[in-house]
Amino acid sequence: MADLLSRERCLQLTQYMIDGAVPGTIAALWINLDRFQQVNETFGYAGGDEIIAVIGRRLDEAIGHDAHLSHMGADEFVCLLYAVGEATVTELAERIEVCIKAPLAWGDMTLHPSARIGIAMLETGENAIQLLQRADQAMLRAKRSGQRWLYAHDEDAEQKVRIGLPARTELDIESKLHRAMETGGLDLHYQPILRLDGSVESVEALMRCTVDGHAVPPAIFIPIAEKTGLITRLGEWSLSQGALFARRLQESGHDLKVAVNISRAQLLSPTFAQMLSSAVIYAKIPADRLELELTESLFMDMSRTVQDNLCDVRATGVTLAIDDFGTGYSCLSNLKDIHASKLKLDRAFATALPEDGRAYAIVKAMTRLGQELGMAVVAEGVENEAQIQALKQARVNGVQGHLYASAMSGDTLLEWLRSRTQNNIQKEYDHDSIGR
Ligand code: C2E
Ligand code: MG
Ligand code: MG
Repeated sequence: MADLLSRERCLQLTQYMIDGAVPGTIAALWINLDRFQQVNETFGYAGGDEIIAVIGRRLDEAIGHDAHLSHMGADEFVCLLYAVGEATVTELAERIEVCIKAPLAWGDMTLHPSARIGIAMLETGENAIQLLQRADQAMLRAKRSGQRWLYAHDEDAEQKVRIGLPARTELDIESKLHRAMETGGLDLHYQPILRLDGSVESVEALMRCTVDGHAVPPAIFIPIAEKTGLITRLGEWSLSQGALFARRLQESGHDLKVAVNISRAQLLSPTFAQMLSSAVIYAKIPADRLELELTESLFMDMSRTVQDNLCDVRATGVTLAIDDFGTGYSCLSNLKDIHASKLKLDRAFATALPEDGRAYAIVKAMTRLGQELGMAVVAEGVENEAQIQALKQARVNGVQGHLYASAMSGDTLLEWLRSRTQNNIQKEYDHDSIGR
């Protein structure tokens, strides 16, 4: 790696380039190799280092004289360049990806390396550390969401807040989460999922965190809990609470599943399935009253422990749902191996309906695909009548969204269900409309 710049030199060079540069004219690409831990485990650290050196040489060749390459340590590289506009930067990201992906013969094996790239363009008033941090964060988000590369400014509003969170704010939220855990500031809210005939099929448990009377949105605290490892405790708590609520539903005469969101870190724990069984037994519910929602990015990189856990989960009778499907790096070959009973189409699709004919074609095809694989297909984020008409035409099995009901406390949900039953709401609607 002799020719590449070190982390310190990278910082110095970035600051040197920034001094006097116009915002938008410098790009930092943060490159992180996928699954490098496995390479180290297989070939040892010395072998891993040699492989990184080969990839470093490949990268150096691919970027040519247009950009500066640094090795930030371990399996991370940074590429810096002067560029006006994103076209040149995207083209470079593509070149980098192609060069990394070329098969690499090593001993008696052929490796297929891959990487995620986070890209940040210089913003007004930014220094070297801030620019590189944004590129690093974008890379992490690309990894989480299964995208090959991602621009830091591609975040939606909530994620932008998150990316921009300074370390102090992250620490503050982390301590708030600890306080919430100790002071009863955590709660689960429940959002109904309806079949097309208007009946309620299940409810999704969504975590809420309130500290000193202020709510912290899940889009802010969940990623921080994931980053700090707190998600394991939070996730365990939401599973046990979700199971207890399934019991409460059953006792109130509602034959409904409770779906609980699960993060990747939870499935990496060898004791996950055991903990899940305990939650089911303690709540005294049939296991199929519980469903686990897993995002598709989780399936991209299935370690042995994740596979074993999923297998054990299915053996208990708890069902699986694939969450937010269709916007990440949907790996169809993995899809065939995951025995989920529900496929939840990401909110982005319902949002694009009915105007976007191409989105409609994709929804129709994904619905067919999911159903052929034995899954019920649910559209998330349904907010208006026109969307529901398009979704009906696409033959989805279920819907979830503010049009029907937002997430609500357990007590409010029971009241909502009770009033629906009492008024016999379904009769008010003709056979092809959906009750609200
Ligand atoms: P998700 O699992 O995809 O949950 C659906 C999100 O969409 C929820 O946001 C819900 O309130 C929102 N939503 C539902 N209908 C609509 C609609 O019609 N329009 C719009 N704009 N939004 C709608 P929420 O509660 O903020 O949760 C965000 C994410 O946080 C969840 O996305 C899930 O990934 C994560 N999360 C929430 N609770 C937990 C948990 O207990 N464990 C883990 N690991 N993640 C959780
Ligand atoms: Mg979910
Ligand atoms: Mg979802």
